[in-house]
Amino acid sequence: MVRTAEIVGAGFAGLTVATELSRRGWLVRVHEAREQVRAFGAGIFLWDNGMRVLAELGALDRVLACCHEAEWWEERDAEGAELGRRPLPIPGGSRMITLTRRDLLVALMGVARANGVVIRTGSHAVSAEPEGVLNTGDGARWTADLVVGADGIRSAVRDSLGLLAGHERFDFGLYRFLVPLDRVPSAGGRWRAYVNYWNREHRRRVLYVPCNDRDLYLLIGAHVSDEALRTPLDASLWCESFPVLRQVLAALPAAPRYDRYEVVRAREWSRGKVAIVGDAAHAMPPTIGQGAGSAMMNAINLARTVDAAADIPAALRAWEAENRTMTERTQQESVAIARDLFPRDEVRRDDWTDGALSIARNVPRAT
Ligand SMILES: Cc1cc2nc3c(=O)[nH]c(=O)nc-3n(C[C@H](O)[C@H](O)[C@H](O)COP(=O)(O)OP(=O)(O)OC[C@H]3O[C@@H](n4cnc5c(N)ncnc54)[C@H](O)[C@@H]3O)c2cc1C
Repeated sequence: MVRTAEIVGAGFAGLTVATELSRRGWLVRVHEAREQVRAFGAGIFLWDNGMRVLAELGALDRVLACCHEAEWWEERDAEGAELGRRPLPIPGGSRMITLTRRDLLVALMGVARANGVVIRTGSHAVSAEPEGVLNTGDGARWTADLVVGADGIRSAVRDSLGLLAGHERFDFGLYRFLVPLDRVPSAGGRWRAYVNYWNREHRRRVLYVPCNDRDLYLLIGAHVSDEALRTPLDASLWCESFPVLRQVLAALPAAPRYDRYEVVRAREWSRGKVAIVGDAAHAMPPTIGQGAGSAMMNAINLARTVDAAADIPAALRAWEAENRTMTERTQQESVAIARDLFPRDEVRRDDWTDGALSIARNVPRAT
């Protein structure tokens, strides 16, 4: 008999689990609260683990055709002095690419639709029941062999089942936006580096991330109390803090995407026939660029584990047992960096951390 899944959230985790189940013959419906499937947050870093998942789903070629791959990562102070440099790909190790979130989502939507996933937009999940029931805001009750809450950091599915163990927000606020290439005349040729600029006096940061041959992704951040985060953003404050970036910071968008570093810990990743995955289960600060990569890896493994099993609740417990340790190590690593973000005088930043490297080497569960 054909098995069914109701999945909440058409983000990176939800589309991954949906596509993989659909490829295996499940009937899959994704509920997305927004009226359109949209990506927020400008650009994204993906390491090898994320790329391996995309390859398994058949989306990697499309992603590689619209991504950027720099030759090294730099840390610089506000005057432009180098504080560290790390080669890419890591010698003997992993690749890292960047692209716009929109392009990543379009690639995932493409494989989801090609594999028969049905996406119901404007469908707002309010709760789930361990017996395999999803309740949506329009009063509908959807029953399935498997329900998945891939509904992000403020997951309604997770909270309705009492699975939240902890949610911490850090005092660091960030805006993210894309800058068109014509604002960056010096980058007309090849963009060779990703650069983290630090103003240590004012505790401000700019992350400079080429994404393709059109878009530069900028992330600007500071302590949540810093006047530089007040909207409308005052470009002159950022230009004074980072004179070397004056050309790209001279005009800032009126309402870019704002976030803080956050971490979510769940008591368990499932209850009965309901699983939570991605930020709903294990959001982490993006300090090693692994939130989406980990979300997609755990999502594909979830689909493969339940597909191979008759007993869904037992399969979900086995999936958590297999994936949780690696995920928690990654969270710990990203939290430790978030707590000690700014470079210090005496410390150069020339090495990738073990935590970043070990999660990047993770591979999807064999089929
Ligand atoms: C500043 C910042 C930078 C980051 N940079 C990176 C990076 O470079 N690399 C990386 O790997 N990760 C990065 N991350 C983390 C990454 O964005 C997340 O880990 C990733 O988006 C999680 O994917 P997800 O599918 O679990 O959740 P989401 O992307 O949040 O998707 C959840 C989906 O569920 C929908 N939804 C929510 N509630 C409901 C509901 N009740 N009913 C129906 N639908 C619902 C939402 O509309 C959304 O479409 C960054 C995060 C931040 C804050």
